Amino acid sequence: MKSHRKELWFHVPTRRAYINITPQVEDALAESGVQEGLCLVNAMHITASVFINDDEPGLHQDYDEWLERLAPHAPVEQYRHNVGEDNADAHMKRQVMGREVVVAISQGRLDLGTWEQIFYGEFDGRRKKRALVKIIGE
Ligand code: ZN
Repeated sequence: MKSHRKELWFHVPTRRAYINITPQVEDALAESGVQEGLCLVNAMHITASVFINDDEPGLHQDYDEWLERLAPHAPVEQYRHNVGEDNADAHMKRQVMGREVVVAISQGRLDLGTWEQIFYGEFDGRRKKRALVKIIGE
């Protein structure tokens, strides 16, 4: 069995962002040489997410507004977590959007649905953070 590990690094200048990382995951898959297997992609931070959905800017704005209604950033004093930090909302946004995705690899390609793309969701940016790509198979 082959195995390949790769870290993707991000330094988002804003607090929140939604980044299509499908090309980077495809690069990792090409490096792995795996034809049949599984690809895991997970955020390595508790205030960021990896998820699959449509690459449509209106939808990303809808997500952002929906998440901000669910867990508003301000006032930061509303959260017990925010003693010496201000990112409780980011922990909650990440929880809703999920930690990781697993994608099948078939004939050397990510076996995604027609409109499926892989995203890194940042909820507490303005610093270096990373996601893990782990590929196993034959
Ligand atoms: Zn925190």
